[in-house]
Amino acid sequence: QAKREGKNAVRFFAPTLDVAAHTQLRIEGHLRRALDAPQTGGLHLHYQPQVDARTGQLVGLEALVRWTDQFLGAVSPARFIPVAEDSGLIQPLGAWVLNEACRQAAAWGLRVPVAVNVSPLEVSQDDFIAGVYATLRRHGLSGPALKLELTERLAVRDLHLAARRLSQLRALGVHLSLDDFGMGQSSVSTLLHLPVDELKLDRSLITGVADSALDQRVVGALLALARGLQLRVVVEGVETGAQLEALRDLGCEVVQGYLTGRPAPPEALNALVQAMNTEI
Ligand code: C2E
Ligand code: MG
Ligand code: MG
Ligand code: MG
Repeated sequence: QAKREGKNAVRFFAPTLDVAAHTQLRIEGHLRRALDAPQTGGLHLHYQPQVDARTGQLVGLEALVRWTDQFLGAVSPARFIPVAEDSGLIQPLGAWVLNEACRQAAAWGLRVPVAVNVSPLEVSQDDFIAGVYATLRRHGLSGPALKLELTERLAVRDLHLAARRLSQLRALGVHLSLDDFGMGQSSVSTLLHLPVDELKLDRSLITGVADSALDQRVVGALLALARGLQLRVVVEGVETGAQLEALRDLGCEVVQGYLTGRPAPPEALNALVQAMNTEI
């Protein structure tokens, strides 16, 4: 009897696991093929403006990877980045994203940093710093033309190694930003250990900022923390005018979100970039 139940239990759970594993393998296989020929494989970048909260002036562009596979259709990065991290594909993917973002920034003659998301697994590779140097050089860019957005999920041991590596990039003028602050595993301790010069406040912190006095106090306190540590702040996920107004009142300087510009293909940003380039 017990054996039968055990068997049934296995039957009950196994298909779900199979589906998850199968999907993961399918994504991995297609992504591997896409990375052999990124353009024809449907990989491309969108860019989202980071703007001055008061003037609306462009202060940065974040590159966000997009993938439309021939068979799988559009797959969101939230879906395929973890697969890439689990399968060793994050290094070639990250290298492609960095190169493409730098190529586009150089083509635009962009005067504000292009921000590129990097996985902690990339930073932990021995050749990460050399790869960033080489990519900047390939496109004739200087350090300050680039911003790297880092997420936590680094083991403490790795954190010290990452900090040492990242300091080399900081010395070159590359901007370092701690992404998704205030969500998940982000901590003040990480903030103190990594040589970052910017903090990105996660969208979840500001959803209620227009109406909730408590949320206002939390965001205000985080802005004060950043000021105390001499860090720039970008607030992510600003969707409404009321949120923007509340953030401005709290002294927030840079915002990014659907309100001030959705992620868009580079062609859609040509006019904005040209307008900025012709300002004195
Ligand atoms: P992230 O770096 O925190 O990027 C912000 C995400 O929020 C993006 O989702 C963006 O499209 C979305 N977003 C921007 N403004 C708003 C808003 O006003 N409202 C809402 N609801 N969402 C907004 P996306 O492009 O789907 O990327 C998700 C995550 O995937 C990114 O979060 C980042 O962690 C990762 N990712 C994206 N591109 C890359 C990449 O090239 N390399 C690596 N390693 N990770 C990437
Ligand atoms: Mg980011
Ligand atoms: Mg974020
Ligand atoms: Mg995120």
